[in-house]
Amino acid sequence: MRGLICWDLDETIGYFRPLGDEIVAELRASQEGLLRRLWSRLVGPSEVVPDPDAPPIRLRAGIDAALTRLGEAGFVQVVTTGSFEIYANRALERYGLRRHFADVFGRERVWEGRGKVYRDVLAQFEATPEQTLILGDSFERDRSIDEPGIVMICQPDGLDQPASALPPLIEALSEPDGFRAGFDRWLTETPVSQRWPVVLMMSEAFDVTGA
Ligand SMILES: [Mg+2]
Repeated sequence: MRGLICWDLDETIGYFRPLGDEIVAELRASQEGLLRRLWSRLVGPSEVVPDPDAPPIRLRAGIDAALTRLGEAGFVQVVTTGSFEIYANRALERYGLRRHFADVFGRERVWEGRGKVYRDVLAQFEATPEQTLILGDSFERDRSIDEPGIVMICQPDGLDQPASALPPLIEALSEPDGFRAGFDRWLTETPVSQRWPVVLMMSEAFDVTGA
């Protein structure tokens, strides 16, 4: 394995939130009221009440080609999302992207309220933090709160940026010793004006219990 890439879903791969409404409607129709209430409580009512002004579902430009190229380059790719797995899998399957991912980790497995926990993801693929890369649109939501040393590419406006820029950057960050070595080199070689997307290195784990 050349490296493990952990993709955030919403606003990183595409915009799929109307699918949440669809799933809730199905749950309601199937009279699984408990699940519906659970979804509503965990996700929040603002995300389960259909919004007539909600933008339509869309994929990030070039995402399928970027995922294909990274897979062919030898990277193992997974989704690590703060959304539920039923929603994430539906989004990926409906738009033909599920085949790119070795697994889809939903909030049931990675979400801790103040970021994501990646330890079980790394363990499943026997990857070290140095071999792992996080892709996301939110530092707060996508950062690792349990594994220091993971490099993260953070693009708050990623949905509006073509995904075609990612494979060259990821390959540039990838070195035999892992992404950390690539990050150190990238930092010394890249002028500040060209450091976009933002590349960060999680130098220490975040305290998930503190105030
Ligand atoms: Mg996101």
